[in-house]
Amino acid sequence: TTLCLGSFSFYGQQSGIKSSVQEVEKKVDSVLNLMTLEEKVGQMIQYNGSWDLTGPASETGNKEKEERLKKGLVGSMLNVLSVEATEKAQRLNMENSRIKIPLIFGYDVIHGYNTIFPVPLGETASWDMEAAQESARIAALESAAQGVNWTFSPMIDISRDARWGRIMEGSGEDPYLTAKVAVAKVKGYQGDDLSDPQSIAATAKHFAGYGLAEGGKDYNSVHIGENELRNVVLPPFKAAADAGVATFMNSFNTIDGIPATGSEYLQREILKGEWDWQGFVVSDWGSISEMIPHGFARDKVHAAEIAVTAGSDMDMEGGAYQAGLEQLVEEGKIDESLIDEAVKRVLRVKFKLGLFEDPYRYNNPELASEIPFAEHRKTARDIAKKSIVLLKNEKGLLPLKSSVKSIAVIGPLADDKDTPIGNWRAQGEANSAVSVVEGLKNADINAEITYAKGVTLGEGERSFLMPLKINKTDTTGISDAVEKARKAELVIMVLGEDAFQSGEGRSQVNIGLAGLQMELLKEVQKVNKNIVLVLMNGRPVEITWAAENVPAIVEAWQLGTESGNAIADVLTGDYNPSGKLPVSFPRAVGQEPLYYNRMNTGRPSNDQHVTYSHYTDITNGPLYPFGYGLSYTTFDYGDVSLSASELSSGGLLTLSVPVTNSGSVKGKEVVQLYMHDLVASVARPIKELKGFELVELNPGETKTVEFSIDEEMLKFYTASGKWEAEPGEFELMVGGNSVDVKTVKFDYKK
Ligand code: BGC
Repeated sequence: TTLCLGSFSFYGQQSGIKSSVQEVEKKVDSVLNLMTLEEKVGQMIQYNGSWDLTGPASETGNKEKEERLKKGLVGSMLNVLSVEATEKAQRLNMENSRIKIPLIFGYDVIHGYNTIFPVPLGETASWDMEAAQESARIAALESAAQGVNWTFSPMIDISRDARWGRIMEGSGEDPYLTAKVAVAKVKGYQGDDLSDPQSIAATAKHFAGYGLAEGGKDYNSVHIGENELRNVVLPPFKAAADAGVATFMNSFNTIDGIPATGSEYLQREILKGEWDWQGFVVSDWGSISEMIPHGFARDKVHAAEIAVTAGSDMDMEGGAYQAGLEQLVEEGKIDESLIDEAVKRVLRVKFKLGLFEDPYRYNNPELASEIPFAEHRKTARDIAKKSIVLLKNEKGLLPLKSSVKSIAVIGPLADDKDTPIGNWRAQGEANSAVSVVEGLKNADINAEITYAKGVTLGEGERSFLMPLKINKTDTTGISDAVEKARKAELVIMVLGEDAFQSGEGRSQVNIGLAGLQMELLKEVQKVNKNIVLVLMNGRPVEITWAAENVPAIVEAWQLGTESGNAIADVLTGDYNPSGKLPVSFPRAVGQEPLYYNRMNTGRPSNDQHVTYSHYTDITNGPLYPFGYGLSYTTFDYGDVSLSASELSSGGLLTLSVPVTNSGSVKGKEVVQLYMHDLVASVARPIKELKGFELVELNPGETKTVEFSIDEEMLKFYTASGKWEAEPGEFELMVGGNSVDVKTVKFDYKK
């Protein structure tokens, strides 16, 4: 029999009107009650839309998948990449199935959909949470109009190792900053109301520990204890859960021997228990079946048993749930209530999205035709320029002077229109970015501009699946570049990483400028010392030689569609750079993992001190620290004062610091607050970010920046397994980066 659910009461939802929690729960229960076990299991299965859904289902596998769609035995699809295909899949399901539960369509919309924004690590360098929210909102608008209901973003894995290629997808090494970004992204994607047809569901991923893969090698084991898990890895996830993120994605890695996908502790105890979070957990791609090679499950059925028991609600393209769940219930190995719980979570999100009311909510030509792409590009340029970090500026090279009459723009990425689009580019078209050469030509500058590529960075196909083949032999373009550099007053060199050098499966043991780029740089530097080095990269790169030999360095990440214009805005001084690094830049790759919020040792060391914990062949400390970034003006920090020297339980202290623009142009500074708990039941980091404030100051202007210090700020996961503040002495540090800080102390008494 075919049930006509259209007449059932749970169809009462109207888009744009929030349903109360109780209403949604009632609807969820009313649907669940109608479902067979097979249909329930179907809701826990996600298929990859890798076949042409609009054509005939010719291949056997696809035929089988389409049959399941028709029977309503699939809950979700990912990578269905057109309105047409989305509509076809949804119709197969809605028009043929007995139960008519709409599919939810997921896709990796990571840093924009059509309009591409900076890669997440780059955007985090803006420290601008309005920007982070706005780019997510725009991505939601654009992707929702093309059939996407759900993005697998934000990635909020803390990463401390530049070798890990996926560092570009996250917000860097700091839990506080990453948590702020997580909240901004969730708000941006999901809007005020998920049922708004321009909102999409967000995903907090990868739960958990994935960014701390040993040796920075993707998918590798993670060896962390409870202290690091609770105090470093989990805070951004807790923030996302509290912000109402609709879904979580678990992760490929093991933690201390347990695959995250099979971890009852992470998913059931912490996420769904302690945090009382109500959304659903999707596995990572095949991560349930991957518990077999992990040596944790015997076969797919066993893997399904472990994952469902642990609280993984949906199986992404793994086939384990399809292979095992029904059988497991029928054999009495798992209780059907486990399935019910997972299905309720999936249905809840579908109801909140308004999919039951309009399964074709994306198929709205009116909304699609109203998307203001030109406006989106303006926002992309604005966010891109805010994401740029000025690392070095000597000899007064920047901003470019109008007296400069000739500029040679050199390097494999100088006129590259593809690299700025970055990895995980959704529907951002290849070669669609504004290049640096184009950006400079668009800008109103007097100088004559010449261009030479010098060397190519890579050869062959550039795609998500194919790592780039780096050019290590072809030096034929170097002489032309050197000639152009010799004739120019100033050289802008654009070097870094190809779009596909970072991202998933892109771990590297070398993080210097790949291929022949250093050779090119050194040859150019021999004939012209006035070099502005513009870097494009998805991870911290090792640039120690450049830092010592090149007078100006601009970190421009992979900035998206408007890259070249944004870079020109900064180079010309049209925009005064305000970005700060969300991740430490090492002097040498051997320092990795490298992060500012480290523990002390019993033999403390600092940047100068080479006696104790250190490497014998390198200075301790990063080349450029977390939080670092220059401006075309200078900021002076006055004396830091605290409203009292003692904080009591429930009390509040106010920290004040006057910040003055002591230079000659208007500028924006990210004022950063760090804290150190001197003695605690577990050793605490030497400093941890606890607040930041963006202040814009005219030349000569002073503003007093205030931070409120309360008990909440002091809390951490203590030795007794509680999130609480421990009495004792604390240091507060304020400055424009994590190293140059002014310190005050206070006591906390319970
Ligand atoms: C990645 C996820 C991504 C998924 C779907 C996996 O390989 O780890 O981050 O969302 O694929 O594309």
